[in-house]
This record gives sequence, C-alpha cells and structure tokens, in this order.
Amino acid sequence: MAATVAAPPTVARPAHLSRLPELARRVVASHGARATVRSPFDLAPIGEIPVSTPADVASAAERARQVQEDWAQRTFAERAKIFLRFHDRVLDRQAEALDLVQLEAGKARAHAWEEIGDVAIVSRYYAHQAERLLAPRSRQGLVPGATQTWEYRHPKGVVAIVAPWNYPLAMGVTDAIPALLAGNAVVEKPDSQTPFSTLWALDLLVECGLPEGLWQIVCGDGPTLGPALMAAADYFQFTGSTATGRTIARQAGERLIGCSLELGGKNPMLVLADADLDAAIEGAVRGSFASAGQLCVSTERIYVHRSLAAPFLAGLEAATRKLRLGVGLDWTYEVGSLHSERQLATVRAHVDDAVAKGARVVCGGRPRPDIGPLVHEPTVLAEVAPGMTLFAEETFGPVVSVYEFDSNHEAVERANASRYGLNASIWTRDTDLGRRMATRLRCGTVTVNETYAAGYGSVDAPMGGFGDSGLGRRHGAEGILKYTETQNVSIHRGPALAPPRGIPAEAFARGVTGALRALRRLPGVR
Ligand code: NAD
Repeated sequence: MAATVAAPPTVARPAHLSRLPELARRVVASHGARATVRSPFDLAPIGEIPVSTPADVASAAERARQVQEDWAQRTFAERAKIFLRFHDRVLDRQAEALDLVQLEAGKARAHAWEEIGDVAIVSRYYAHQAERLLAPRSRQGLVPGATQTWEYRHPKGVVAIVAPWNYPLAMGVTDAIPALLAGNAVVEKPDSQTPFSTLWALDLLVECGLPEGLWQIVCGDGPTLGPALMAAADYFQFTGSTATGRTIARQAGERLIGCSLELGGKNPMLVLADADLDAAIEGAVRGSFASAGQLCVSTERIYVHRSLAAPFLAGLEAATRKLRLGVGLDWTYEVGSLHSERQLATVRAHVDDAVAKGARVVCGGRPRPDIGPLVHEPTVLAEVAPGMTLFAEETFGPVVSVYEFDSNHEAVERANASRYGLNASIWTRDTDLGRRMATRLRCGTVTVNETYAAGYGSVDAPMGGFGDSGLGRRHGAEGILKYTETQNVSIHRGPALAPPRGIPAEAFARGVTGALRALRRLPGVR
C-alpha cells in the first residue's frame, strides 16, 4: 500500500492582506465576474480579483489616453520625483510586498527580495537618466551653418504590457517605469494568478504622486484580453513564453506597431579548467535554483571542463542536498514551491522522460507534497543526451543538467547549439579570456564569475534575447527609447536646396559634388 502523505498546513496570512479587496478595486472590470487567486504554497485563497472583458480593456485605454495628454506635458524633473519617492517607499514597505510576492508566486523570501531590489534599481536608474536619454538634442544639419537639426523623442501614447507570474512585482513594474517616465500611459495585464503584487505597486505609485488613471490594470485570460490590448496600444511590451511571443509579434505586425518580447531561455553555464571550483559550485546552485528555477535567466545547462567534472559534480550534489526546501513567509527556506500544477507537470514530464531515456539523477528528482502541494526537489541530472526533452527545451523549474567538455571552443559551440539565447555565465580565473569567450556566445547577457544577477542588475546596459529568446531589449537606453517616437526637426536658413534661378541642374549637381568632396575632408564634419 502506498504511504499516505500528511497534507502540509496552510501558511498563515498576514493581517495586511485585509487591504487586498481595496487593491482589487483598481482593476478595470465592469461585469462583476471574479476569480480566486490561490497561493502555490497551500492552494488556499489569497483573495478575489475582478475579471475584465475586452470592452473593459478598451475603456481602460481610452481613460489612460486622456490622462496621458497632461502627463506628457510634465517636466522630466516632476516625473522623476514621483519615481524616486516610489523607490524609497518600496524599500521602506518591502515586508508587505515580500509577503505578497511569496504568497502569489510561491517563492522563497530571498528570491522575492530580488524583486524589491530590481524595482528600486530600475526606478532610480530611469528617474535619473530619462531626461538625459530623451531630452531634445541638437544633431548635425545637412548644410553646416545653414541647417539646424534637432532630434525629439515623443511618447508613443498608450503602452500595453503583459507580464508573467514568475516575478510578479519586478515584471509587473520594471517595464512600466520607463514607459511612464517617457511620458506614456500604460494598460497592463498581469498574470491572473499574480495580480496583487502589481496592484500593490500601482497603489503605492499613486500615493507617490502618479496621476490616477495613467497606469491602468486589467485582469483575465491572456488570449481573451490580448487582442483588445493590441487593438488599443501604440506599443506592446510582452514577457512570457516564446509561443505567446510569436502570437504578439504577428498581431503587432498586422497593426504596424512596435513590440518588445522577453521570452524563454535554456541558459548555459561554462566552468573552464581554471575556474574557482567553490565559487562555481555556489554560483551553480544559486543560478539554477533561484525561484525554484522559474526564472527566465536561470541556468539549465552546465558545461564543466573534464578536469574539474568529478569534483564539481560532487560539490554541486552536496550543496544541492543541503538546500532548505520549504514554504513560509520568512527567511528560513532557500528554495520554495513551483507556481502551478502545470509547472509541476512539466518538471515531472521532463525528469521522467530524461530518466527513462538513460539520464542519471545525481540528487533530487522527486516532488515533495509533504512540504507543499507544488514543491519539487532541486534536481541535478547527468548523462543527459540529445533526444531527451530537457536537452533542448526550457524546463522552467529546479532542474539542471551537467555535461563535460574538453576544449573552450567545444564549450562555446555546445552552449550556442540552442534556439534560445538569453543568458549565460562563464567561470574562469582569467577574466580576459572570460570576456573574449562571452562575446562568442549568442546570448543577450553573459556574466563572468557570477550568476544572472550581475548582468541583469546592471541596468545601464540593455538585456534581452537572441534567437527564440526575444526581440528588443529592456534596461539601458534601449529600454526607454523603444517607448518613444523619434522626430527630426530641421530649420534651414541658407539658400534653397535647389539650383538658383538660371543655373542648370547639371551645373548645380557639379557644384554640390565639389562641396561634398570638401566636406569629406573638413575636420569635425560627421
Ligand atoms: P505565457 O506566455 O503563457 O504567459 C505569460 C503572460 O502572457 C500571462 O500574463 C498570460 O496571461 C499572457 N498571455 C497568454 N496568452 C496570451 C495572448 N494570446 N495574448 C496576450 N497575452 C497572453 O508564459 P508562461 O508560461 O506563463 O510564463 C513563463 C515563460 O515566460 C517562460 O518561458 C519564461 O522563460 C518566460 N519569461 C521570460 C522572461 C524574460 O525576461 N525573458 C521573464 C519571465 C518569464
């Protein structure tokens, strides 16, 4: 007879959750339908959320557009002040947000904190940089001394944002921040299972001075609301799966609007022969199991130089076995729960398929319903081969495969043998070599001697994906310029750019040819 597993207790809800009905009222929804949001920790309800219709999306966008007209006239300094205030309050009131993120996403508190840090860093960065990046700038005019040219950046208008459930605060907020600072309105659909973290941030931003109605939130099924969001938007920002990303790109193509797509990954880690072994092992554990591997930049493939393979694998096994796995609203646990039955089913299917085809479970490999209904052990696999689903497909769970290589060239080739290209790390004491190898990897972010956080958190540089990992970038100049339309305004004060009366076109062209030859040699002319 199979042993019965005692159901784990529900996780006690903190008192501040009594505010959730108030936050839920911020969702634009007119038909009274409601959905229950449950915690992955115990599958018990967190709260109820109104369900929006496509007509609600249209009215949210209309209202947002009205508010945006005034917002676009505000100075950068006025806008920045709101986001710097928001930065401070997010840090001050982080305990509330940590509870919400943990309850909604099911992750360990330390991983929830990454979202607080991300929101603060992105708020600070764009509050300080938006004006420098977007203010009108003088450009070289056609005729030196006669043509004066300026480049203007105008807000697109209404930006639609669709966010996933895995980093509900960070993904819910950090793409909205540059869109708003650039003078746009936002209509956003968070994932239906994680709306409260985003609503909490919206509420706080309004408290910090963001005009009511500028950032609208709708909730509901993606395929139902997606087309209405697309119809209302001037730009579409999407984070989620590659399959949905393709749908969004097709729809944006039909509407001839821009879109930015942050999609999946199958992220490699390369441990070179001269790597600091202990640091690489510690990095592998963090890089693979943060947020139970439900992180777009999470490590899923580790390539280790053959000379280090045995001690690396032994060390990774020992460190993984030590991880404290559990659910709860405190800092006790190092790995939390998966987010949904669907995620758990994918992890089970990938592990079962690999094992059936000959992979070896080094450690982990089992679901742990005794700890939480959706908990799965952090899992290290060896002897993974082509033909196993997880060899090439994203698992998006706490599962990592370890491979050996003989030369750095081989490591780069194998890391690049993927349709994805989101994130990678390289571990070596020779950082010049690491940097050179990084530029040979077809990945949007590559970190030497750290995991994802060093690259992702360096928000002065853009991040995003090559190949099936996406289109467009977040962070850096690209992360805000994409939310603007560029305009060239040129004032010409010289003679008309046409042959003067009585001068034949051919003679005029000869004269201009001579002028171009002279300009080509004139210092300072671009
Ligand atoms: P998903 O594409 O199913 O859902 C993501 C969001 O899109 C949800 O809010 C969903 O409701 C919405 N959606 C679904 N269909 C839609 C449609 N037709 N139109 C508009 N919206 C629609 O993705 P998922 O599986 O829930 O999320 C996990 C995936 O997201 C993983 O592949 C992961 O790698 C990726 N991800 C990428 C990043 C990144 O920055 N690159 C960050 C987080 C997650």
